[in-house]
Amino acid sequence: MNTKGYEYCSGCGICLLVCPLWKKTGSMSHTRKGRAKALQGGAALEDIAASVDACLLCGSCEPACPEGIGIAAMNMEQRRNLNKLRTNYPSWYPEPSGMKTRIKDNALHNSIILIAGEYQGNNLKALSAVIELLGGNKKVSPAADDGRDIAGLLEAGLPVTQDRIDDFITPLRHADTLVVSEGLLHRPLRKWLPNKKIIGTGEALLSSAHIRKALGPEDLYIIECRGYHSDYERLVKFYDRMRKETGCQTNLDLQRIAIPTGASSLQAKKGIEAAGCLEQARWIIRGRSMKRIVVEDIADLAVFQRVADVPVIYAGQLSRDNL
Ligand code: SF4
Ligand code: SF4
Repeated sequence: MNTKGYEYCSGCGICLLVCPLWKKTGSMSHTRKGRAKALQGGAALEDIAASVDACLLCGSCEPACPEGIGIAAMNMEQRRNLNKLRTNYPSWYPEPSGMKTRIKDNALHNSIILIAGEYQGNNLKALSAVIELLGGNKKVSPAADDGRDIAGLLEAGLPVTQDRIDDFITPLRHADTLVVSEGLLHRPLRKWLPNKKIIGTGEALLSSAHIRKALGPEDLYIIECRGYHSDYERLVKFYDRMRKETGCQTNLDLQRIAIPTGASSLQAKKGIEAAGCLEQARWIIRGRSMKRIVVEDIADLAVFQRVADVPVIYAGQLSRDNL
């Protein structure tokens, strides 16, 4: 895990290349570099509040940074510290009272737990079935508690009670693998449950040869950014293998950074247009020739459907069609 702080920023600007805010605003002060250089120059946290709030926490800048600065953790810490200094929060912040209380999952004595609250009905059944196939004789249990309220509070730098964390993770202790669709939860879950294998739904699905066979060169496959960047070195290799085998296109750039739409951010939950997601999606598809777009993050579905003139499906639908 990268632990270096803003003091180590050399100002090289490589993080700008992948930052959706730089693309949208063209304003240096809205970038990770801009915030780091301002703090190095003696600015107070309040002086860079607008920039800290604007960050979509896509995590793309962290693996791009040659200094190895722990950017994702730093962004959230700055939000936490900023929250202590103010009483007026951005309009897109979650309500602390919106936190789920005392959800009690039964202890799940199975080997794989699927934490993907946005998958419902037949899609959830299909996703569970594929993951179960991959797990051999391991049974898959969808978790009743998807922890998304926790993810929202962490993203906003708001406190999460230890009781709530305990309620979320206690039923997960009996599993050896957690398949988690909310990428922002991957890092905290690795900290809370250090012995578990934690992967995204996309990786779980693509581990099946049946699913990989359903992809080809005319597909553009959109990788979920937050989970990918949280385990970057390992997943670069995983997706390189997948790309070579299927021939499909991806939203990875030449540095193998996943170009984000920002659709999973709290800001985008209030409005994908205002958050700049549509512009980002247009940029990702510009100049490409494809007949279908497959998204890992269900939040990207609405974004690409707005800007693309080809069918857009999410990766879970590949499972339904290829069992
Ligand atoms: S996390 Fe994303 S939006 Fe925030 S500074 Fe980094 S690249 Fe830009
Ligand atoms: S990539 Fe890292 S070192 Fe370079 S400007 Fe961005 S934060 Fe600073």
